[in-house]
Amino acid sequence: MSAIDRIAPVSPELKAIRRDIHAHPELAFAEHRTAAVVVRELQKAGIEVHQGIGGTGVVGVIRGGRGLRAIGLRADMDALSITERNTFEHRSTHAGCMHACGHDGHTTMLLGAAQALAAARDFDGVVYVIFQPAEEGEGGGRVMIEDGLFERFPMEAVFGMHNWPGIPAGQFAVHTGPVMASADRFDIEVFGTGAHAAMPHLGADPVAAGAALVQAIQTIVSRTLDPADAAVVSVTQFHAGEAYNVIPDRATLCGTVRAFSESVQQRIESRLRELCEGVGAAFGVRIELAYRRGYPPTINTAAEAALCAQTAASLVGSENVDTGARPSMGAEDFAYFLQRKPGAYVWIGNGPGEGGCMLHNPNYDFNDDILNVGVAYWVELVKRILPPHA
Ligand SMILES: [Zn+2]
Ligand SMILES: [Zn+2]
Repeated sequence: MSAIDRIAPVSPELKAIRRDIHAHPELAFAEHRTAAVVVRELQKAGIEVHQGIGGTGVVGVIRGGRGLRAIGLRADMDALSITERNTFEHRSTHAGCMHACGHDGHTTMLLGAAQALAAARDFDGVVYVIFQPAEEGEGGGRVMIEDGLFERFPMEAVFGMHNWPGIPAGQFAVHTGPVMASADRFDIEVFGTGAHAAMPHLGADPVAAGAALVQAIQTIVSRTLDPADAAVVSVTQFHAGEAYNVIPDRATLCGTVRAFSESVQQRIESRLRELCEGVGAAFGVRIELAYRRGYPPTINTAAEAALCAQTAASLVGSENVDTGARPSMGAEDFAYFLQRKPGAYVWIGNGPGEGGCMLHNPNYDFNDDILNVGVAYWVELVKRILPPHA
């Protein structure tokens, strides 16, 4: 019997829960049905439940022994505004909404772990199972923290897990340091002076200035940052004008910035500001920059990442735990948890990533074959951090 089967045998009940949540996806802060499923399953296992934390967030409290040490395990519950293209029986029944990021699987794996931990209680301390709303862009994790998560449920460390298509089922990737990037947004307004397109000397062209600015922005990563620092600055929108023969009086540029450290974020923001001012002066237009911070980078702490890698290796073998994988330029609001507490966010292989199986794809589905792997990982992690008294 494998370590996984011993800790978390394949459970038809868990698979049914996963598919039920998949069929009833809910968007950010509207995860009412999903939260009700979570509450029902936690209570079924005799677990103390706290609801309404950060909106629809739920926390379960599982005590083992008399120990006072506590850790948090976190799953996300929300779905995406995507119309599902799958035709299987458990496809979404909510038009325009779909579990295309596998949060249905994350929620189910943590429920399975909570039930197993509550049944055995063979650890010493407190485990908080955290089910958060609104991971997809709305920062539900941050809202839970602002709502007193860490004051009401003091914990020494917090852990997260995301399925990852492209990593074979039964494997893990654990990063030391950055695992996901920050995601900031910028809006740039170029205020020129409109003119007849045949008489450009009578105006100040925001299109020419905007085009120069797009070019200049390309030098931020290539000429301003240390080459060893990874970052992305993408201009993704450029709106201006509506006629063939009119130079418009303004142009709008928008885009995104990704980085793995606060200092790089700051450097990019200040360089963007300098370029806006400089190009504005050069072209005789006024340029305004609005820079909005989004999710911070998700940065695993070294000791906890090592512990997670050891835990995964004990289940699937060290040859199936990649500790050298590159981080993703995607973003993740588990970052807010890791800003406040030590911890680590690991990737669990979802199987092949081709043929529409990537995250946020209308043909994606969470792989039920990894449910028991994920449950076993959570249970084993708890036992390693909060070992029972001999
Ligand atoms: Zn997602
Ligand atoms: Zn996700």
